[in-house]
Amino acid sequence: MKTFCLLSVLTLVGTCATPKYTARIQSIKDNIKINDSAIVTKYANTITSKELKKHLYQFASAEFEGRKTGEPGQRKASEFLKTYYTNQDVKSPLPNNSYYQSIPESHFSNNIKESENVLAIIEGTEKPDEVIIISAHLDHLGVEKNGSINYGADDDGSGTVALMEMAEAFEQAKKDGMGPKRSILILHLTGEEIGKKGSDYYVTHPIYPLKNTVANLNIDMIGRVDKIHNNNPNYIYLIGSNRLSKELHYISEKVNNTFYNIDLDYRYNDEHDRNQYYSRSDHYNFASHGIPVIFYFNGEHEDYHQTTDTPDKIEYELLEKRTKLIFATAWQIANQDHRLLLDDKNQLLN
Ligand SMILES: [Zn+2]
Repeated sequence: MKTFCLLSVLTLVGTCATPKYTARIQSIKDNIKINDSAIVTKYANTITSKELKKHLYQFASAEFEGRKTGEPGQRKASEFLKTYYTNQDVKSPLPNNSYYQSIPESHFSNNIKESENVLAIIEGTEKPDEVIIISAHLDHLGVEKNGSINYGADDDGSGTVALMEMAEAFEQAKKDGMGPKRSILILHLTGEEIGKKGSDYYVTHPIYPLKNTVANLNIDMIGRVDKIHNNNPNYIYLIGSNRLSKELHYISEKVNNTFYNIDLDYRYNDEHDRNQYYSRSDHYNFASHGIPVIFYFNGEHEDYHQTTDTPDKIEYELLEKRTKLIFATAWQIANQDHRLLLDDKNQLLN
């Protein structure tokens, strides 16, 4: 946004504050009609803190040995997800109901062994070729030399269990005849902690053509509260929402204002922010291919990348509320009349 203002002044096209620009933004906002709000609430309410907690105590348990990419603990975590989707009757988009997108050892370095992304699909009822990807990484840091396990409950167990609950909610809606018009791809990515390798593999070997991929909502840590928000935990950081599609940004805001009223904190979306979170999780590989993204993030905390990132420290009510927000945002993108518009193709902006 800052860059845009600066360029506009330099090129004398006008600044962000001109009435014309403001009117264009207003027309984007006015054009967003929230779909089926009672139905969204009904299915969002199937996402519960109780179930999120149950899943996370399993996923972030010692059994999965810190889920290091290519190691037995990570393979067990993938198997856990596959079993869940099989039992929930959420289909695999891959042949033979495998749920696995295998990634060969050659894609990794440093002796990392072969691994896999885990995929499940809720096929759209009207425009199945248009796909919204909801993603989170399934891998973590493994076991320390002294034997301590990196449980990764927040990173990214929180995102993983959010995906499990959202898949269940969309699948239930579909069984009731209320399935999403566009397809929802649930994408559990491996290799994030070793350089976003799972998402890098997906975008170079996409299961659905990237040109039909409407948006990526990526979750990496949404179960905790950082120091900045100790006194007002009803927040989430959003990063990237306005970079490629202003429409996505205003959809996200309108959905939040309609349903959940979470404080959407954009401080890390500043292009000059020194943390550069925009480029630091899996959504970046989608954004690099021109796909609009939102990255959902609770910020860093004292247990970030420590063996003390355990499930007892997760705020489950908050995790539920944030998951519902992401679910409702995906519902809107999947069900609105027109496909989400990139800014350069949005007639309301140009
Ligand atoms: Zn992470």
